[in-house]
Amino acid sequence: MSTTNTVPKLLAQVKHVVLVLSGKGGVGKSSVTTQVALTLSLKGYNVGVLDIDLTGPSLPRMFGAETKQVHQSANGWVPVSIYHDDKSPFGSISLMSLGLLISDRGSSIVWRGPKKTAMIRQFMSDVAWTSGNSSEMLDYLIIDTPPGTSDEHIAIAEELRYATALDGAIIVTTPQQVATADVRKEINFCKKVNFDILGVVENMSGFICPHCADCTDIFLRGGGKALSSSLDLKFLGEIPIDPTFVEMIELQKSSESSLLDQYQNSKLYPIVSQI
Ligand code: ADP
Repeated sequence: MSTTNTVPKLLAQVKHVVLVLSGKGGVGKSSVTTQVALTLSLKGYNVGVLDIDLTGPSLPRMFGAETKQVHQSANGWVPVSIYHDDKSPFGSISLMSLGLLISDRGSSIVWRGPKKTAMIRQFMSDVAWTSGNSSEMLDYLIIDTPPGTSDEHIAIAEELRYATALDGAIIVTTPQQVATADVRKEINFCKKVNFDILGVVENMSGFICPHCADCTDIFLRGGGKALSSSLDLKFLGEIPIDPTFVEMIELQKSSESSLLDQYQNSKLYPIVSQI
């Protein structure tokens, strides 16, 4: 537990902090985090992405940054730059993840709570988000969390307790998961730690056929909307399953255009930019 009631140094450099949460793994929380970051960058905002899924960090792979390293500067850890071009109208994207700090990327992380808490505290106080472009503050910090309500959630709640930049949390669910107790637990957790819930996103809501671009409802649809209205939460939107998104992530190294360019031309960008 944090013993001071001060805001971590990092947050003084950030205008908005948004957490991405889900009751279960595999519902697309990291994909939604990635898409929200790409969308904000395409809209011209400078974005930082913090991955606090310590035991299963997947954002380095999502952003094609698996071989990149975080560096230490006089100001603290310099996150990995995913996109930065002063001449482009797009905002920068930088990423911090435990996956970028450990040398053996294939090894599993088995840490007890206190070590996880210490790591998250260090993420919040020691990352120099504006380094490299020091005149500009970060517009958005998107924090990807592990599924459920774990040590990492409790640690980040403590760190963000006094942060006025905290906008709140986005809850990601799928049509199949929407009615389960896990989603409600997540919502209860937010209430307990005073995180505002920005709204619910239903991911994997229908399937975009790569051949005809028609959207088919493979699973039930509309549960996210129903859940939101029953709990008086904002429904932010539905993201369909798009196989080209998986291709985009998997084929980044062999592709000539950047992830940002590819995402701008994808079918998901116009959908997520409405969220
Ligand atoms: P989580 O973070 O909740 O564990 P991920 O974001 O890692 O889930 O998603 C699990 C898998 O599903 C990944 O391979 C991801 O690329 C894929 N996926 C998630 N959402 C979509 C989507 N809307 N369209 C296509 N694939 C998706």
